[in-house]
Amino acid sequence: MNNAPSLAKVEVTALKGVGAQLADKLAKIHIHSIQDLLFHLPLRYMDRTRVSPIGAVQPLASVVIEGEVKACDVVFGRRRSLVCRLQDGTGLITLRFFHFSAAQKKRLVPGARLRCFGEARRGASGLELYHPEYDFIDAKTPLPLESTLTPVYPATEGITQQRLRSLTEQALALMSSHSLEELIPDDAWKREPYPLSEALAFLHHPPKEAPIDELLSGTHAYQQRLAFEELLAHHLSMLRVRQRIQADGARPLPTPTKLLEAFRQQLGFTLTGAQQRVADEIAADLSQPYPMLRLVQGDVGSGKTVVAALAALQAVGNGLQAAIMAPTEILAEQHRQSFSQWLEPLGIKVGWLSGRQKVAERRQQLAAMASGETQVIVGTHALFQDGVEFADLGLTIIDEQHRFGVHQRLALREKARGPGDEDHGGRSHQLIMTATPIPRTLAMSVYADLDCSIIDELPPGRTPVATVAISNERRSQVVERVRAACLEGRQAYWVCTLIEESEMLEAQAAEAIAQSLGESLPDIRVGLVHGRLKPAEKEEQMQRFKAGDLQLLVATTVIEVGVDVPNASLMIIENPERLGLAQLHQLRGRVGRGTAASHCVLLYGSPLSQYSRERLKAMRETNDGFVIAEKDLELRGPGEVLGTRQTGEVNFRLADLQRDGFLLPRIKEVATHILSVHPEVVDALIGRWLGSSENYASV
Ligand code: ADP
Ligand code: MG
Repeated sequence: MNNAPSLAKVEVTALKGVGAQLADKLAKIHIHSIQDLLFHLPLRYMDRTRVSPIGAVQPLASVVIEGEVKACDVVFGRRRSLVCRLQDGTGLITLRFFHFSAAQKKRLVPGARLRCFGEARRGASGLELYHPEYDFIDAKTPLPLESTLTPVYPATEGITQQRLRSLTEQALALMSSHSLEELIPDDAWKREPYPLSEALAFLHHPPKEAPIDELLSGTHAYQQRLAFEELLAHHLSMLRVRQRIQADGARPLPTPTKLLEAFRQQLGFTLTGAQQRVADEIAADLSQPYPMLRLVQGDVGSGKTVVAALAALQAVGNGLQAAIMAPTEILAEQHRQSFSQWLEPLGIKVGWLSGRQKVAERRQQLAAMASGETQVIVGTHALFQDGVEFADLGLTIIDEQHRFGVHQRLALREKARGPGDEDHGGRSHQLIMTATPIPRTLAMSVYADLDCSIIDELPPGRTPVATVAISNERRSQVVERVRAACLEGRQAYWVCTLIEESEMLEAQAAEAIAQSLGESLPDIRVGLVHGRLKPAEKEEQMQRFKAGDLQLLVATTVIEVGVDVPNASLMIIENPERLGLAQLHQLRGRVGRGTAASHCVLLYGSPLSQYSRERLKAMRETNDGFVIAEKDLELRGPGEVLGTRQTGEVNFRLADLQRDGFLLPRIKEVATHILSVHPEVVDALIGRWLGSSENYASV
């Protein structure tokens, strides 16, 4: 077996019926070798091996049923459809056809006996099969059933399921004459693993008696064995990026004790224990001769900015520059103010680069950065555009990283590395900050390339935000509440949300709400910000709100991140059921920043679904971002929690972070073990599971 050729090296063209054309199509879905084909695993299975009693059919199951037509009629609902009621001794089910011919209708008469195959869904009349496949049956000529479960592969352009099944069959047969390497070393397993070939043969071709429920939920032992390997491959790919970056080295930045002391003296508050701990972790990283790769997670309002300032000072104290990038103009501007206020008294020059600067100002800022005149530079994406040069960048800080996504983060990392970095002794140190706590298991996977610090304490004197859910039917009471708060000298946000991903519709809705609130509250000064305003207009509204000139700010979710107005102590969120928990928590974090007791009103549209009710309940019950993140993961799954920007990360073939996350601590151990003891299998493992789509190889 050992000398047999490896299936990783045999091209698909070795299979019967695979010519250049089909090979091209397969290449499009990253199938080049026989191994690739074998690891193109079924998404789900259909059971066409047995006939299910109609009474036992569950929603979302694909089933074969047999029965007698009881009635068949054309129904004129929202869409005209042919509705056929089918019964056996155990129950009654509806077959529904939106497209049908007269001939079809004519044959589906009461008394006709059918065998159908389809997916059951809850419909207008209980369980329904839409457009099932069906055959007429009679007692004399029984129809055969399948002898194994039918795999369903991820859809592929121009290649039918049938074709994939027959190719896979050939590939499976080759396993007897060729080898498929077990890449995970034996000593890495806790228990004897199932042989790879056995697991693959089973999963492509599960026998009739295989437990289909386990297979459909992905919990079958063979699936778990492969999921382990897949997660391990992903983990290794992230660790390898990290290794590569760290191998480049960085200049060690010893802690400038005096400078940091001077900073603390004029700060006006003392760091919380958590801030101090995280600042120490960062300071220790920075003094190493390889680049820091650290993520700071801290709930909204936990005080990440000052921790970032301390890190920046450590670069400046060593004669290097620090760059701080924020995802929006509003946030960047806020950082500019904080950093100027904190650092300029110490004689440090703060530079500023934004996308909407006047040409002359931009030129001047660029020159100051390039000459080293400005030591700490705050900005938006504009910081990492072409033509931007630093005199000597020692540290890059990326704030609110969740707004960027992991691929962007990696790209930034590349840009943050100036062309002359090697001459300067390696890469710049990197600090990434996020206010969106990620559940532990997800963090382990998505941030495997980073060390994590958590600021798990809020500055003293904050009172937790009290959250209530109120139906839109009681809207007028809520408006009165806003009036009362404003008349007491407090300020409030009114946040509008929309289902559609349309900035324009959202802006229109916000405008309409601002107008109607303006009419109901003639004695209150109402402002408006939304994504369609010009940056200068947005800025002006924000500044007026900050200054207390506006009392009520109607806003879309553009105010989500980072905005700091301590006097605002009331927030109304319209249709909170449309947002994810993490986003709601972010929004709510805009209040509760001062000493006054703060309130958040979730003004929902009734009736609420069970699912929405649960989410709003979670919001009422806790102010802890980490608890909310766990709940969000439980309710929505990792893809949603990480947001579409990051789903590239969770596009596994078989593994599911929510289901298999419990494997990660073990995977982390095994990955470290493999990297140090069996580094020779790392490339093969990554190649097998990530193939050419490996996003990290080039970093
Ligand atoms: P976030 O973590 O959301 O970025 P910020 O850095 O904006 O939080 O801090 C929120 C507010 O808390 C700011 O006004 C900041 O000056 C203040 N703050 C930060 N740390 C402390 C502290 N240790 N004591 C008192 N106030 C603090
Ligand atoms: Mg912040």
